[in-house]
Amino acid sequence: MEKLKKGSRCTICKAKGEKGKAVVFLPHHRLALCKNHYIQWFEKRIEKTIKEFRMFSKRDRILVAVSGGKDSLALWNVLIKNGYEADGFYIDLGIDQYSKDSKELSVQFSKKIGRSLHIISLKDEIAPIPVINKSTKKPACSACGAVKRYYMNSYAKKLGYRIIATGHNLDDEVALLFGNTLHWDVKYLRKQYPVLKEEGGFIRKVKPLCKITEKESAMYAFFNGIEYIEYECPFSEGASSIEYKEILSKIEEKHPGTKLQFYTNFLKNMHPIIKEYYEKEETQIKECRICGEPSFNEICAVCRLKNSVERETVQN
Ligand code: SF4
Ligand code: ZN
Repeated sequence: MEKLKKGSRCTICKAKGEKGKAVVFLPHHRLALCKNHYIQWFEKRIEKTIKEFRMFSKRDRILVAVSGGKDSLALWNVLIKNGYEADGFYIDLGIDQYSKDSKELSVQFSKKIGRSLHIISLKDEIAPIPVINKSTKKPACSACGAVKRYYMNSYAKKLGYRIIATGHNLDDEVALLFGNTLHWDVKYLRKQYPVLKEEGGFIRKVKPLCKITEKESAMYAFFNGIEYIEYECPFSEGASSIEYKEILSKIEEKHPGTKLQFYTNFLKNMHPIIKEYYEKEETQIKECRICGEPSFNEICAVCRLKNSVERETVQN
């Protein structure tokens, strides 16, 4: 991590010799840490976030959305270490080698920690992402986001979990906030919170890594020997969220702590105002006329996608 001065000692243990040698510098927290204290710091920070937003307790059964990436695997590892009842859920999106590799790494990790990993395949449910992408002609990520939300929710209910935990980190949240603010997309800003309550058939969703940066979770995965997929999904190329991340990282480099401040001050100062103002306009959650799952429209996004895929198959 950046700007770790040669010979720095761990701020916490200050031990002499190799043991107290700082290996990580967190500029926005003004901390230089050795490997052990970094791991401790990371795990405590997540625990603090879980408590701050009252995400869940040790009595809840949690389903972790696992993608094979550093964030979801680091999150799963921390939850288990901190004594939570957490299993994994992996959706095989059918994106060629990317899905093969990420699935293998997820399975390997579940075996290592001895927890169940529920696996479903989009090929069996609707169609692989590249096929959906061709049929709908919309950006792959918007369809992918919709199917992931839908199957996570419906399977979590079927399997008896009360909470879905996702690995969205601070960089993801800040990029999303930045995009939503640029467009003043108040509907989405209202929903941008680390906890989405259970309502109308949607189960509770939480983001325990919302105050952890991408680099911090990569470092945690590295120190714990967690193997994760290190390349990006081929569909992520050109995504505006990646451009926003690049811009925000440049600002962060010059002014450490900006991302965290932008996000936490939004949660503290802006989110309550937006939420209260738009409370009256709460959109009615309906049941999809086709599948019965919760939806904001008569027919849910996934049933509409299924129709497009079927139409395309008939035409060809
Ligand atoms: Fe899905 Fe887009 Fe993420 Fe690929 S980059 S996994 S298509 S959301
Ligand atoms: Zn439906």
